[in-house]
Amino acid sequence: MFSPRTEIENLRREINRHNQLYYVQDNPEISDSEYDALLRRLKELEEAHPELVTADSPTQRVGAEPLKAFGIVNHPYPLLSLANAFSDTELEAWYLRVKKLLGNAAFQIDCEPKMDGLAVALTYRNGKFTTGATRGDGFQGENITRNLRTIHSIPLNTEEDAPPVFEIRGEVYLPKEGFAKLNRERADKGLSLFANPRNAAAGSLRQLDPSVTAERPLDIFIYALGYAEDSLLPDSHWQILEYFSRLGFKINPRNRLVNTLEEAKEYYREMAENRDSLPYEADGVVFKVDSVSLQQKLGDAGREPRWAIAYKFPAEQVTTLLRKIGISVGRTGTLNPYAILEPVNVGGVVVKQASLHNEDDILRKDIREGDTVVIQRAGEVIPEVVAPVLAKRSPESKPFSMEETLFNPKLSRPACPVCGGEIYRPAGEAMHYCANVSCPAQFERQLEHFVSRGTMDIRGIGESLSVILAQEGLVKNVSDLYYLTAADLLKLPRMGEKSADNIIKAIADSKSRPLDRVIFGLGIRHVGNETAALLSSRYGDIWALAGAGLDELQTIPDIGAKIASSIKAYFSEEKNIAVIRRLETAGVKLASDQKPSYKPLPLSGVEFVVTGKLDSLSREEAQQKIRSLGGTAKDNVTKATRYLVVGADAGSKLAKARSMGVKELSEQEFINMLEQS
Ligand SMILES: [Zn+2]
Repeated sequence: MFSPRTEIENLRREINRHNQLYYVQDNPEISDSEYDALLRRLKELEEAHPELVTADSPTQRVGAEPLKAFGIVNHPYPLLSLANAFSDTELEAWYLRVKKLLGNAAFQIDCEPKMDGLAVALTYRNGKFTTGATRGDGFQGENITRNLRTIHSIPLNTEEDAPPVFEIRGEVYLPKEGFAKLNRERADKGLSLFANPRNAAAGSLRQLDPSVTAERPLDIFIYALGYAEDSLLPDSHWQILEYFSRLGFKINPRNRLVNTLEEAKEYYREMAENRDSLPYEADGVVFKVDSVSLQQKLGDAGREPRWAIAYKFPAEQVTTLLRKIGISVGRTGTLNPYAILEPVNVGGVVVKQASLHNEDDILRKDIREGDTVVIQRAGEVIPEVVAPVLAKRSPESKPFSMEETLFNPKLSRPACPVCGGEIYRPAGEAMHYCANVSCPAQFERQLEHFVSRGTMDIRGIGESLSVILAQEGLVKNVSDLYYLTAADLLKLPRMGEKSADNIIKAIADSKSRPLDRVIFGLGIRHVGNETAALLSSRYGDIWALAGAGLDELQTIPDIGAKIASSIKAYFSEEKNIAVIRRLETAGVKLASDQKPSYKPLPLSGVEFVVTGKLDSLSREEAQQKIRSLGGTAKDNVTKATRYLVVGADAGSKLAKARSMGVKELSEQEFINMLEQS
């Protein structure tokens, strides 16, 4: 007779092995009822001996108690997004760019189906799955560890030779069959249906009650290693995935490693043709440079790695009636034409409006009011009008003209639809603009942009309150926000004391947003979030940026003449400088925490180990600070360790470091070092 502990351990090992066979290798050895019997026996034993229950027991995959709320996980290395290609030409351009940057060196390409699911990062420590997080904004995600534990193809523990600490990334998805079944069940229960498998997968993963997640047939494919500490891995993405496959992770069997651009295109064609017969939704193919050292050499451009690209499948298309072409005013004064459509369902989403870009584009496609048009939606992007159906065109229809559409009979000239200002189109640009610098529509859009999530993220001021603040004259430029009082807000209709206080607090909180958000928020024409990030890391300070000359700006990779002169024009305007000064006086942070990138980081090449408990910051925070200054933070003392940061109750690492003669730093010495760096 075994002791309960031994029997529990044997059962867990056995069940984990069958999980692997069933969920990962698709090759079960026992029947479902035999499997259920093993699991039932384990549950009985654990109920009788609760002290023996562990977080990685297979019984924990089903129905842990509901989460109170999701915690936040900081990603030690950001989960970047991918650049997109929509045609062979764009794929070729990417390939040639990579080839050129690599000095014509040969490189292999990994081809992977682009799963339409939810990206997650899974962290393992000492062989155990400890943290699972959503991608979130790439830098911070939600902690959904307990929900991820319910997915059977995610190993709860790994074999002995796995790296001591590693993070692996994958896409959680709902197979088409599971999606159809889920919606049938929901229809039977009178619940609302999910529009598509991706929404269903995301909704399932973000359940507060893991037992709901457990009922959904979610699956995962691992597509990348985030990082692995203290281990020598091959210099090949393909071989790294093979290695993790041996450790029990599920890798898409349709992945392929190729040597040429032609083979990559062939892979894309095959996948696009077979797209409907795949058991899951894929919205394209991802191509990656296989060599990890070449990937590092290529680096990132803004928030996208240069060494990878997503080649999207052609989007879903439908036809509908274009009732009218409307014009809206953007935050930089752009006059944006858009199509007002007879509502139509495209891939599960009802579409009423579609983008029309600009006058040239409309004329090139010859899209007219009253036409039946083909519209398409690709992924998350706003739907666009592809082409008119000429056979259905009315003989009375007339070609589109921006000036005629904006003709104002009272003024006897074309005019901004909001303020009546004159319109103009700069030489070399496709957009028309409203010339009135105090056009209220522009400022309303600009204010909306400044407070929105991707910029200063001021909760409580949305679209409608932005408009009211601007129209009531309480906010005439963005710096006015920081001088508002609760009493000012209380004068507004339907504003209670509590919301007013919350808004004032949210405004105050926004003073410490990172510099790139501020730069993006200012609404400099042609400066999007990626350019803003580039400028922030390059200059590190708004005044350094404001003083940059035109030539200097143009030496920055990815910044051309158009962007450079727009930046220069913005900072040459006395009014704009005054706004920035008022932001500074109000205490808005206008410098980056990071040192400017064109100086080498002070701790580059220096390796730290942090041990014991620190008083003023957590170990993770300490490690993040080290990394942000260019250093490396490891968990184990090795010959490469330069400094051991010693907190309270330090144990074996301290002894080991002493035996190896590694320099020790007290918490205070460490903080001094950070401050001086
Ligand atoms: Zn206007």
